[in-house]
Amino acid sequence: MSSSTRDVLKSCLAVKATDLEQHDPRESFGWSKEESLRLLADELSVVAALQERLFAAEQTAVLVVLQATDAGGKDGTIRSVLTGLNPAGVDVTPFGVPSDEERSHDYLWRIHPHLPAKGRIGVFNRSHYEDVLVVRVKSFAPELVWRKRYGHIRNFEQMLVDEGTHLIKIFLNLSKDEQRARLQDRVDDPTERWKFRMGDLDDRLLWDEYQAAFGDAIRETTRPHAPWYVVPADRKWVRNLVIANILRHHLELIDPQYPPADDGVVGTVVV
Ligand code: AMP
Ligand code: MG
Repeated sequence: MSSSTRDVLKSCLAVKATDLEQHDPRESFGWSKEESLRLLADELSVVAALQERLFAAEQTAVLVVLQATDAGGKDGTIRSVLTGLNPAGVDVTPFGVPSDEERSHDYLWRIHPHLPAKGRIGVFNRSHYEDVLVVRVKSFAPELVWRKRYGHIRNFEQMLVDEGTHLIKIFLNLSKDEQRARLQDRVDDPTERWKFRMGDLDDRLLWDEYQAAFGDAIRETTRPHAPWYVVPADRKWVRNLVIANILRHHLELIDPQYPPADDGVVGTVVV
């Protein structure tokens, strides 16, 4: 990893004591748009080669948790950064409003079946964190209930790590101004309008409450083995490159190796 990439990742890494306000959503790390697009292409080809080894090795699962406000760029991230990976090894799961059946169980019940198997990269578009975010902000559960969940989540994630999952948690840090512009685009552009719900405006009115909930969730659950990255998300090209850097960094930490050949394979002549 180059020293500049190391600095970028370090500055995005959530540290227990830091507040979200200390992360600038418009940060560009000195990259121009043109330069960042070139770097992204290079980075994604490295990530794809590492994914191939991860898939072949079947030793470690990778879970990428994506959380953001509305219009924060979760879908765009999945489209732009996962391009170039082998889709056969990637599972993307969105978590929306729980169904009646899901609601009749504990909040982790619906999560577990979607965790990636060893060798695969799972991407959660929203996640178990909604149960300390929207659930808290909209008072869908009392504080006595949601506050205990930070502890459950820490233990749940520790178990996943102990059992062979590598965890990467990403908060797309969008500014309130940029959210306004993106929601307005969704209203104005007929090809984007399907993404807009009137309820998005109610959530926007609760901006400060959501930011507080994101801040607490990140502080309470960031751990060396289950880190949160706060990624500047106002500029899509910055967001994409930082996330590609993060993926590369973690896949390099895993350093997956091709499995040894079966007995007798090496030197075999195929006739
Ligand atoms: P979208 O990501 O735009 O498809 O929206 C999904 C919606 O599902 C968002 O409004 C989330 O707040 C909501 N949602 C996701 N998980 C939960 C949950 N556990 N409880 C309540 N609402 C949720
Ligand atoms: Mg939405």
